[in-house]
Amino acid sequence: MKTITIIGGGLGGLTAGALLAQAGHRVTLLEQHTMVGGCATTFKRKGGFRCEVGLHKMDGVYTNPTIQKIFNELGVYDAVEFVSSEHFYTLTTKTRSYTLPYGIDAAREYLTEIFPHETRGLDRYFALISRIGHQIDTLTNASWYHYALFPFLFSHTLRYARATVTDVLESLFEDPELILVLNANVQYYNDTPDTLSFLLHAKAQSSYYEGKGWFVKGGSSRLSNYLASVITDHGGTVLTGADVTAATPASVTYTHKHSPHTIPTDCIVSNLSPQDTYRLFDHPYREEKTISDGLVTIYLGFRKNLREVYGERSYANFFMDELYTLDEYRANVKSGVLQRSFGFTDYAQIDADLTKDPDKSFAVTCTTDYLDEWADLDPEAYRQKKADLIARTLERLERHYPGISDLVEYAEAGTVKTQQRYLRTPRGTAYGYKPTPSNVLRIPRSHSREIDTLYFVGQWVISGGFSPAIMSGEICAREIASRGLPA
Ligand SMILES: Cc1cc2nc3c(=O)[nH]c(=O)nc-3n(C[C@H](O)[C@H](O)[C@H](O)COP(=O)(O)OP(=O)(O)OC[C@H]3O[C@@H](n4cnc5c(N)ncnc54)[C@H](O)[C@@H]3O)c2cc1C
Repeated sequence: MKTITIIGGGLGGLTAGALLAQAGHRVTLLEQHTMVGGCATTFKRKGGFRCEVGLHKMDGVYTNPTIQKIFNELGVYDAVEFVSSEHFYTLTTKTRSYTLPYGIDAAREYLTEIFPHETRGLDRYFALISRIGHQIDTLTNASWYHYALFPFLFSHTLRYARATVTDVLESLFEDPELILVLNANVQYYNDTPDTLSFLLHAKAQSSYYEGKGWFVKGGSSRLSNYLASVITDHGGTVLTGADVTAATPASVTYTHKHSPHTIPTDCIVSNLSPQDTYRLFDHPYREEKTISDGLVTIYLGFRKNLREVYGERSYANFFMDELYTLDEYRANVKSGVLQRSFGFTDYAQIDADLTKDPDKSFAVTCTTDYLDEWADLDPEAYRQKKADLIARTLERLERHYPGISDLVEYAEAGTVKTQQRYLRTPRGTAYGYKPTPSNVLRIPRSHSREIDTLYFVGQWVISGGFSPAIMSGEICAREIASRGLPA
């Protein structure tokens, strides 16, 4: 048994910690916030609202082989309840609404009926994302056999390795609106399809179509807290309010309740970005990869249950009301946060269990956010801009949910600056490196090339998102097991 210290209790750190503690190591997880989870948390607000921070839909819960393995090993399926929605998502553009069903065949048939002139492209698109999705699953668990046969086994992945979503969709389709329809939900990963890796789009979309998107009933803190309990149940320690300030290859220093502590360790697992981690070690490091853009969320508590007021609607909605083409989309993204198209996740549509009172409900809006839009504002201007954003967004929601503003009991905006404060990620990102083709195409690796006792987990290893962050924990545990630990 060795001592392992984990810096940061996001999903990556918690998963690695749970797997390593279960494997018999003495794990100490240090989290600077008052609760574990990072983005995977919920916070409470007056009126009985449990506000979800970073989960609309998780992919791969019952279909991704690595997620299934982790969840089975850790007993997650027995401890946490996952709920899903009936449809994948609804997108509303300038011309009409589209409600995409789950299932590759169902979605292809649905879109072929609306875009009969694009039948050939749709057939190719859905076959392609499915094939790439499966190839990437295999690649995540690749063995020497797979690497030896790489060009044959991963032909599609290789062929599209340098392609962006725009490259591929524009080569497959004539209809400008179809491109918006197929990529609507993936704007969380990247502000524009022009720089988004087609491989990432294909992997995420095929996983959602084939395996659905899932929410943790009661909020994502339930998953995070459960993973923390696996660590403590196996003799480990989970310390919140523990701010790591320095590290050496054999020790970690943190502040807890205003007192500094230094603990010896055989191995360090960091849930922080490489640049923040190496700074703790005082080790020279220059980040060459671009960091993902941020997200801004408006948390909305309603005095009524939206499903009862507006009836059965989609859980995941994307409003691009004034848009029809990719050019219009590009201009909209750059037009400022008050004008940007946005997503609306209506938790009343599923058994989310986010309100004490079942007659109330909770929802969020979410869109791309750039730190520069908020960075130079003084506190009053910042507060005012957030208030303007809430007012403007409710005005825009009125078009789809008449009278919704009158139902609001609680509203609060969390900008990328808010996320930077709570998560301490570079530029407040929740999605690691910008998922451009060159950043996405790499074999995920946890072990540091610079410091032998150091491993990475979280949004920096594969990509951002619940399932990639969780899978990074498994990669870390596997690499530690295969390398052994220094005696
Ligand atoms: C608004 C929003 C919506 C999202 N929606 C979805 C979605 O629908 N589906 C999906 O799959 N993903 C979604 N995501 C992304 C997903 O939540 C994240 O990519 C993922 O949870 C990141 O996990 P992580 O392991 O990188 O840890 P992080 O969440 O980055 O957590 C890192 C932890 O390290 C701690 N820390 C930092 N510095 C220190 C220090 N010095 N000492 C101790 N602790 C420290 C932080 O406090 C934090 O708890 C969303 C994110 C956001 C913000």
